[in-house]
Amino acid sequence: MIPRLRPKFGSTEYRAALERRHSVQNFEHSFATLMGVREAIAFPYGRTALLMLFRALGLRGREIICPAYTCVVVAHAIVLSGNIPVFVDSETDGFNMDFDRAEAAIGEQTGALIATSIHGYPVDLDRLAAISARFPHVEIIQDCAHSFAAEWKKRPVHRAGRAAIFGLNISKIMSSIFGGMVTTDDDALSSRLRALASDLKPATAMRQAQRLAYIAAASLALTPAAFGVVDCIRRAGLINRFTEYYAEDVIDMPLDYLQQIGRVEASVGVVQCSAYPAIIAHRRRLADIYEEALRPYPGLRRPPLVEGATYSHYVARVPAADALAARALAAGVELGRVIDYSIPDMKAYRKYSRPDADFPQARLLNESVVNLPLWVDDATARRVAAAVGELT
Ligand SMILES: *Cc1c(COP(=O)(O)O)cnc(C)c1O
Repeated sequence: MIPRLRPKFGSTEYRAALERRHSVQNFEHSFATLMGVREAIAFPYGRTALLMLFRALGLRGREIICPAYTCVVVAHAIVLSGNIPVFVDSETDGFNMDFDRAEAAIGEQTGALIATSIHGYPVDLDRLAAISARFPHVEIIQDCAHSFAAEWKKRPVHRAGRAAIFGLNISKIMSSIFGGMVTTDDDALSSRLRALASDLKPATAMRQAQRLAYIAAASLALTPAAFGVVDCIRRAGLINRFTEYYAEDVIDMPLDYLQQIGRVEASVGVVQCSAYPAIIAHRRRLADIYEEALRPYPGLRRPPLVEGATYSHYVARVPAADALAARALAAGVELGRVIDYSIPDMKAYRKYSRPDADFPQARLLNESVVNLPLWVDDATARRVAAAVGELT
């Protein structure tokens, strides 16, 4: 069985975590250097990073424009920071938020626009700059949880705007087990963020031990050999705690979302910062391999290969994604179904939909997108492509 996801942790990460080798400051410094920014401030989760960024920007009771097709924790952070989400549908021929619709949604109450490079596809920075020039009261926040150092025409996406947020859980391009980061070149903003981060409760020894146990368990659970066993556990609903974020009808955060990130996560994070260039190079190579190996199968629409994209997911579109995923699982390949919901259609968020709003593109993506494993070696990728292609 080939699982869809496997964090790229090696013995260096495990040893660093066990020894609690690096401080949170080391991690922030390594991350800032990797991203080429002045400041990086670490938080326990990406969603906490976003929530604290709203706070540091003084945003409360404002409308925040965000994609309908994004991770639901973004909407949770908006609501739990006392703001109001305004969802915008995706582009007709892509995954990112439609900037024409986003611009039309801007009003006096708008406090920020969250530009998200979904699946690692860079948002159009020229279009975004034009919006920003026309509406200077709207803060531009880059959500780079899928994109890290993605580039639009050679310009890094995460530096276009006031700040960027990153998620670092085990399903992301690089990981610190859990964790989130804000990057910014604005010194005043970074001081406010640092003050907010240091006001959080210190990471307890108990939580640190749990983080260690978590990487051990998750790494084992996501190993091909253990996958049969894990599949049973998954059916019992337990494994979802590793990788799933949401319940349909609640807006909430993990219990420890206001507890500082600790040395265990920071130690893994520092090692992953040095692994990052190799991780991205591997993903880009696999995208090329999938492009070629999937070409003979017209029943499956390949994603575009875009210069500067970082492929958090390699997403193919098919008429019925759930059915294909079930057939692939039976054939020994687990396909991802990221993202398989449209936030404004979820029970908890229906009341935030404007009466005239509709999200046909987001819904279409939810139903049609599968993602192929990006942790595998080249030969396995070709095998996966052939196996999945034959099922379409
Ligand atoms: C994962 C993710 C986040 C934040 O994630 P956490 O799980 O809170 O670290 C934010 N935005 C997007 C698009 C994501 O996929």
